Amino acid sequence: MNCRVCDSTNLELAVDLGSQPWCNHFLKPEEIGKEPFYPLRLLYCQDCETVQLDYTVKKEIMFGNHTYLSGVTKSLSEHFKTVAQEVDTRFFEDLKSKCVLDIGSNDGTQLQHFKALGYDVLGVESSKTTAKIANDSGITTLNEFFNLELVQRLNRKFHIINAAGVFFHLEELHSVTEGIREALRDDGVFVVQFLYMKRIVENLAFDQIYHEHLLYYNLKNIEVLLNRHGLAMFDAYLSPIHGGSIVGFVTHKGKREISDRLQTLRQAETDERSNEFATYLEFGDRIKQMKLQNLSYLENAKKEGKKIFGFGAPVKGNTMLNYFGVGTQYLDCLVEKNELRRDLYSPGMHIPIVIEKEVCDLPDIYYVLAWNFKKEILANNQHLIDKGIEFYFPVNPKEV
Ligand SMILES: [Zn+2]
Repeated sequence: MNCRVCDSTNLELAVDLGSQPWCNHFLKPEEIGKEPFYPLRLLYCQDCETVQLDYTVKKEIMFGNHTYLSGVTKSLSEHFKTVAQEVDTRFFEDLKSKCVLDIGSNDGTQLQHFKALGYDVLGVESSKTTAKIANDSGITTLNEFFNLELVQRLNRKFHIINAAGVFFHLEELHSVTEGIREALRDDGVFVVQFLYMKRIVENLAFDQIYHEHLLYYNLKNIEVLLNRHGLAMFDAYLSPIHGGSIVGFVTHKGKREISDRLQTLRQAETDERSNEFATYLEFGDRIKQMKLQNLSYLENAKKEGKKIFGFGAPVKGNTMLNYFGVGTQYLDCLVEKNELRRDLYSPGMHIPIVIEKEVCDLPDIYYVLAWNFKKEILANNQHLIDKGIEFYFPVNPKEV
């Protein structure tokens, strides 16, 4: 295969997570055991140094009807609000008429915050269910895949284009980036928000690797991609979302000066060898160690007769459960807030999902799959911790 960013054929296997089901399709009882498995491997490009999956599950399978709702978690919605206020205050506060496009706009949470600031908003969301939720709540949303062809049909330019957590999903990477350049006004700002691979490696958060995430970026890699399409990042910072995400500000090449904080982040990647092949090989070895540690912890807890529930049924949890081989021999159920996952089972390991407010029986241990909301989870469940219930976090993200 060719590198998804630079077309090079100089790719090498860095991390192999085995064969895994598509992790965003939680199963109905009649689907159990029938789900297909696909290879989940990270390759490293020796030329542009981007890590990426070699196997692509078709986008129509992956994004036709996903059940992730960004509105469900308070901390994510707060983050989106902060980003909207920041980009408005810095660049467009004085304008009377201004518009924003959100790519992968989900249930419209991000756009609600822009709407409140006086923007004319438009969302593009490939999931039918999610697009409907957004439209029903007054956020105009096109139920389509974003690409250059859609931009040409729209024939409209925007002050702000936002893409949060979608930039690694993209099969049509170059058409999407080209579409963004085309739809961005001359003075426009493209806000790109993505999981920071450097932090994934540092935190050992390998569960962020799954089939929807075709690409894993450090600043160096995403800048290669943007530059290829006449765009340039001029500012960025690290936010604590998902254990460490970059919020990057991008415009047309040569339009704005590079900020000091972006320079500092770039320098840290160089100093810490974040883009080197050896770093990724070591990452693979550390993941193997983590598996042994976790299995030993769960095995011991079971021997002591403890009851264990999974906390949260996030999509990424499935990567971890399948790679570790953790199923109902350890976890009785996964306790989840999202109503769309009611009565479903986790793909691969087939653990039943129970809706949080309907849990009547308490475990001794909650094995926390939604570790990225650690603070929120600990704060909301102090009453359970007081009762002696242990919250075990397989991943412990460093503070940002
Ligand atoms: Zn490459």
